[in-house]
Amino acid sequence: MQVPFLDLKAQFRTIKEEIIDKIKSILETQRFALGPEVEALEKEIASKCEVKEAIGVSSGTDALLVSLMALGIKPGDEIITTPFTFFATAGVIARLQAKPVFCDIDPVTFNLDPEKLDHLLKKIYRKERKNKVKGIIPVHLYGQCADMDKIIDLAKSYGLFVLEDAAQAISADYPSRKGPKKAGSMGLLGILSFYPTKNLGGYGDGGMVLTNHKGLAEKIRQLRVHGETKRYYYRYIGGNFRLDALQAGVLRVKLPYLELWQEKRRAVASQYEVLFENSGLIDKKLVTLPQAVYKKSGLKNYHTYHQFVVRVKKRDQLQKFLKEKGIETAIFYPRPLHLQRCFAYLGYQVGDLPNAEKAAREVLALPIYAELSFEQQIYLVNCIKDFYQSRSFFD
Ligand SMILES: *Cc1c(COP(=O)(O)O)cnc(C)c1O
Repeated sequence: MQVPFLDLKAQFRTIKEEIIDKIKSILETQRFALGPEVEALEKEIASKCEVKEAIGVSSGTDALLVSLMALGIKPGDEIITTPFTFFATAGVIARLQAKPVFCDIDPVTFNLDPEKLDHLLKKIYRKERKNKVKGIIPVHLYGQCADMDKIIDLAKSYGLFVLEDAAQAISADYPSRKGPKKAGSMGLLGILSFYPTKNLGGYGDGGMVLTNHKGLAEKIRQLRVHGETKRYYYRYIGGNFRLDALQAGVLRVKLPYLELWQEKRRAVASQYEVLFENSGLIDKKLVTLPQAVYKKSGLKNYHTYHQFVVRVKKRDQLQKFLKEKGIETAIFYPRPLHLQRCFAYLGYQVGDLPNAEKAAREVLALPIYAELSFEQQIYLVNCIKDFYQSRSFFD
């Protein structure tokens, strides 16, 4: 049996007619950069994510970059983030000649650990009363929100901005102290990615900035077109961060299905849980399941399950074994950012952020998507069991 890591062709088959109609209608208009299709998508996403403003941009990475530009980040500024995320989160900080400061993660959720963040901030502020820390970028990794109440409390007490990287967590719910909140709506700014493999994926690159701050939204709209305030008059030095109409059109066709697709992802996750529990792999600590820490809240979208990530023993051998059985898996992420060669100048050493380093050695992402069948899941769990049995880890 073949179990692909993701099957976008299967998804396309279910919406093909609608997509083709939409693309045809956009071709008729011959308007491709921004325009009414992008504006309509912005309104729909703003409403879905419960923010006042949404600004369509060229990618999730550019959404992060333009957000930091709008916040006036300059060379020498420091921004705290997680080392266990996709490269873009920290890459954009360094591209503005600012300095990424990495804070270790919580081993259960893989998200920024608020206690570690508290320690880090205390340490920084003990050293230098006037330091260069400007903000925090928490990432809602795999589709589950970071512990935002605590992160926002800390940010407030130190006067820092919060920019949420919600690239993997579109419309995820967070049970905040003040009631339910959506991923990307809690910080000063939030970002989404519409990269094709994301839960809401375009047919090319795309992204969005979310905010409730009118002034920042306006500045980002200007920065998106080179900093232009009026045709050929520039107030800022921006860039070309435009979202195109074809992407917006595709995303608008897909958006009404998002809830259903995410519901199905959660169903797949629940089936994995049952299958693994019954396999004996959990009791023997060969596989550790991801924890949906907000499930008890009763909020529907407590986890978008952008990824279903387990910790396993003998990870690399297991992955190879599964590949031979026709099962594709992935590793998000094999090397934490503080140990990447391009960040060697920051001076981090092996052992500095042990939870991120351990996660990088143990995580394995299993296939999860609406079209994945129960039979495929059974086959996958059986193959994992076979792997450990054949190596006599399992009796
Ligand atoms: C995908 C992703 C991004 C970048 O988005 P692109 O659209 O690929 O530029 C940023 N952060 C995280 C956590 C991501 O998963």
